[in-house]
Amino acid sequence: MPTAIFDQLHAGMSLAHVTARLLHPFTGIEVVKLVSLCAAAFSSFNNGHEPSLPLVRVGDRYFLETGAGPTLAFKDIGQQVVAQLLNHVLGSRGERATIIVETSGDTGPAAIEAVRGCSAVRIFCLYPMGRVSHVQELQMITVDSPNVHVYRTEGDTDEQAEALKVVFTDAEFMRRHKVCSINSINWARVLVQSGYYLWACLQVAPDARMRVNFVVPTGAFGNAAGGLLAKRLGAPIERIVCATNANDIVHRTIQTGDLSFGTNRQTISPAMDIQFAYNLERLLYLCSAGDRSLDKAIMTELESTRAVQLPRPLLDTIQQTFLSCAVDDAQTLQAMREVYRAHGYALDPHSAIGVYALDHVHAVKEACRANPTVCVLTAHPAKFGEACAQAGLPPSVCDDPRVDVLKTKPHHFTCLRDPGAGSRPDKLQAWAREIKRAVEDQDKLAQTFVLAATTRHSRSKM
Ligand SMILES: *Cc1c(COP(=O)(O)O)cnc(C)c1O
Repeated sequence: MPTAIFDQLHAGMSLAHVTARLLHPFTGIEVVKLVSLCAAAFSSFNNGHEPSLPLVRVGDRYFLETGAGPTLAFKDIGQQVVAQLLNHVLGSRGERATIIVETSGDTGPAAIEAVRGCSAVRIFCLYPMGRVSHVQELQMITVDSPNVHVYRTEGDTDEQAEALKVVFTDAEFMRRHKVCSINSINWARVLVQSGYYLWACLQVAPDARMRVNFVVPTGAFGNAAGGLLAKRLGAPIERIVCATNANDIVHRTIQTGDLSFGTNRQTISPAMDIQFAYNLERLLYLCSAGDRSLDKAIMTELESTRAVQLPRPLLDTIQQTFLSCAVDDAQTLQAMREVYRAHGYALDPHSAIGVYALDHVHAVKEACRANPTVCVLTAHPAKFGEACAQAGLPPSVCDDPRVDVLKTKPHHFTCLRDPGAGSRPDKLQAWAREIKRAVEDQDKLAQTFVLAATTRHSRSKM
C-alpha cells in the first residue's frame, strides 16, 4: 500500500485535491483529471463554498460536517466521486453500466442523486418501507429520471441485502448487464472516504508530531474503514472510536471479539440499523498484517455459523487503534438536547451517538484526552426531523430549503411485497427474480430503441 500519500499533502489543499492525490495510485488516472472529477463531485457541497466539508470547533472538540452534500449525509462523498469516476471510465470506452443497490436510508438518495444525470449509468434501488425517514424517502421517490428505478420493500435492510446477494451471485447476469453495486462494501467508496480523514488531520494537526482521534457513528463500519485506511496511508491518527446504536455488531467485535449477527432492531438512527456489517472484513484484513488466510477463514466461518470469536492477537491489534461503545435511543436524544443547549448546535441522531460517546463514556473520554478529537458528523439534522422533534429541538434549526422543495413533487416507485405466507428465502428469491426481470426488461427497451434508431438512420441514408 502506498503509505507515503500523507507526506505528499499539505494543509492548504482542498478536499478535492486530497482525494485526487489519494485516488491516483489506485486508479492510474492522471492527477489533473482526478482533480477536475473530484471538484465536480464536490461542487454542490457546503452550498458551493470552500471547504467542501465545514470543520467547526465546538467546545474542546471539532465537528466535521460530512453531511454537507446534496442529500445531506456523508454517503454523498463516496457516491459523488464514484459516479464521476464511473461516468469518466465508461464514457471513454463507450459503455454503460447498471447499479443495483439497497439502502437503509442514506446510500439510496446519495447514489440516485449522484447518477441521475449520468447517461452511462442506470440505477435500481431498494429501500425498506417504514424504516427510513420521511426526507430520505422523498429524496428517492421524487426523482423522475429514466435511468432511476426505486423499489419500496416490505422487509428490512438485511433481507434486502440477502435478496441482492442472490442477484449478485448470478455471474452471467452480472456480466451481461454490467452490474455493479455501490453499496458501502464498494471499495472505491471506502477509499474516497479516507480522503476526509486525511484532510481533517491536515487541518487539525498541522504540526507533524501531533496525533488526532476520530469519533465515528457507525453501523456497518464503512465510514470507520476509511479512517483505518487513512491511518495506513500515513495519517497521524491515534484512536478511532466506533459508536453504534442498539445494532451493536461493530461494538461487540471491537470490544470483545464477538463477531456475530444479532437481530435487526429499529432505532431513531435508521442509517445504522444494520447487522450485516460486511466492511468488518476490511478491519480483519487490515489488522491481520495482510494474512489473507486468517480473515478468509473467519469470514467463511461467519457465513456458515453467523457467529465467530476473533483470535486474541488479532483483537489486540484491532484494539490498539479502535475503541467502541453502543448508545441507546434515550442517550442519543440526551446528547442532541445537551449539545443544543450548551452550544446552540443541532445534531442529527446519528452524529449525536458519537458525541454522546465522547461526552459520557468514560473509556472514550480518557482515550481522547491527550489529542485533538474530531467528531465525524454524518448527516444534517434536517434529514431527520422526526428525531429532532423528539429531542425537543426547535423546528427552525432543522429546516433546509433542499428539503422543502421535495414536499411538492410527485412520487415514483414500485413495491416489493411480503406475501405473508411462505418462507423468508422464498420471498427473497421472488424479490431477486423481480429485480432481474426489471433489469432485463429495461435492457430490452434500450435495445429496441437502439434498433429502431439504427433502422431509421439506415433508411434515411437510403
Ligand atoms: C450510512 C450512515 C451511517 C453509518 O455508516 P457506516 O458505513 O455504517 O459507518 C451513519 N450515519 C449516517 C447519517 C449514515 O447515512
